[in-house]
Amino acid sequence: MKRALPFILVILLASAALRAEESDRPDARYRKEIARLKRRLGRDFTVKQVGMFVAAWDLDEKKAESYEKLIKELEEALYERFLSRRPAEVIRVVLFKDNASLRRNAKKVAEKSIVMPAGGFYMTYEHTLCAEVTMGPWLVRHELTHALVHGDFGSKKPAPWFDEGMAMMVESAVIEGKKLTFRADRRLNLVHRLMKARKLPKLKDVLKMDFPTYNAPATRATADALSRCLMLYLDEKGVLVKFYRRYRIRYRRDPTATKFVEELLEKDIDAVETDLLAWVQAKVRESRESTKKPSSKEPAKPPEMGHKPRKTETVAAIQREKLAIMSS
Ligand SMILES: [Zn+2]
Repeated sequence: MKRALPFILVILLASAALRAEESDRPDARYRKEIARLKRRLGRDFTVKQVGMFVAAWDLDEKKAESYEKLIKELEEALYERFLSRRPAEVIRVVLFKDNASLRRNAKKVAEKSIVMPAGGFYMTYEHTLCAEVTMGPWLVRHELTHALVHGDFGSKKPAPWFDEGMAMMVESAVIEGKKLTFRADRRLNLVHRLMKARKLPKLKDVLKMDFPTYNAPATRATADALSRCLMLYLDEKGVLVKFYRRYRIRYRRDPTATKFVEELLEKDIDAVETDLLAWVQAKVRESRESTKKPSSKEPAKPPEMGHKPRKTETVAAIQREKLAIMSS
């Protein structure tokens, strides 16, 4: 028995080393997806497993490195705070160096024919995200959030206000290690302006909107702004994570999530709206105060309004969502 011990140890160590090596290698599903994407996209693209995704890109080395880091960090941060289930399917993340590459190559990736939007999009039923990186990392963060949240929800379809609200929160969040810190963006000012002009829709109506209504050109920007503000308000009240999980687990009780907002804030939705708008007003006032001319001794503080997207973002977002409707 004593003589057999070293032999057993050698076998155990060898099998442990083999297991470690195997865990570093993509499993069969990933290998299949990697081979498929390589075949379709050709030699200009690098294809590999990144976190739980199969990623492909035609980026230069420096950009590729920064996007690989972004994908891994975002996945870790979202699982740390919000998500608990891995997507059932392997999600493809395909990044293009510019719009010409997107237009030339995105159709090679999809199973069905697609309408080519500007910027980027996530095709839920193809589990495929396409984005051109000239739009900036915010777009990849936004679409990755859609992909991961949909994976976490499984067969349940999150309400449009919630789906977009989460993606908009994450697109401009600060990520430090596994920590996500959310901040206000330009949509806070938009809600404030619409409120002053008495053009703001009722919160309860936005929460009830189905996909086509939410995405209609006449409503999209306003619905986005109000959804984004409600999400940030829930975060500042310290209930956002609880809200996310409650909605996912008890989704069938209220697919629009209105009841869960009411439960967590302990008031009906009209009272929530009143408080939310007072909060928006206070935040805008606070931001204006901080950007007023500083005294000679005090250095000026930047207005913390977060991400300022380019004009193309709105167009891209609308086109993207049109595509999502078509692919659903
Ligand atoms: Zn979106």
